Amino acid sequence: ENFDDMNLKEELLRGIYAYGFEKPSAIQQRAIIPCVKGHDVIAQAQSGTGKTATFSISILQQIDTSNHECQALILAPTRELAQQIQKVVIALGDFMSAQCHACIGGTNVREDIRKLETGVHVVVGTPGRVYDMINRRALSNLNVLLYIIKESKDMLSKFLKKHFFRILVRTGLKIRVILLSATMPTDVLEVTNCFMRNPIQILV
Ligand code: AMP
Repeated sequence: ENFDDMNLKEELLRGIYAYGFEKPSAIQQRAIIPCVKGHDVIAQAQSGTGKTATFSISILQQIDTSNHECQALILAPTRELAQQIQKVVIALGDFMSAQCHACIGGTNVREDIRKLETGVHVVVGTPGRVYDMINRRALSNLNVLLYIIKESKDMLSKFLKKHFFRILVRTGLKIRVILLSATMPTDVLEVTNCFMRNPIQILV
């Protein structure tokens, strides 16, 4: 299967090919379409298999760039990962003028608020700063697509136990949750199962 067969927007396809991808990886072949179709998805694949582009493409396919509200929230365990993801979303979304902002700790809070006020389509961040933005009402449309990314086991348990759970509670039950992870410890699955509806499970 090719990216051309996925019914993606023309400008998104241009972004994918301009980025240098020719064919979807295994996880991309299996996960992009279920995500785009509106399912909750739990996908397990090792790092280096193309997870970042999997959810970047499925988010870009689903957002409406003429609507300047935040339509997708990506939670990542580390600042570095959040910034890497932001770069990929911006690059793949280049031809559709998608605005993606990283809300991460260690940066100026007021600038984050100002940037969010200008209207960004996608927010990628670490749970602490994202929760702070929710509390300050700088991030208020929580009827969003939620993507949760994890790479390292330790980060996830810390991440889950603090702000992550609170963010899920605040977003309510209207959201869709996509979880991509290298490992799926049972405590993680128990928590996420509380917030996910009939998730499709994909193991690559
Ligand atoms: P990730 O697992 O998201 O960290 O991606 C690992 C590497 O694979 C990154 O350098 C990506 O740019 C690259 N990659 C992801 N998807 C594809 C693809 N469909 N074709 C070629 N390279 C890819």
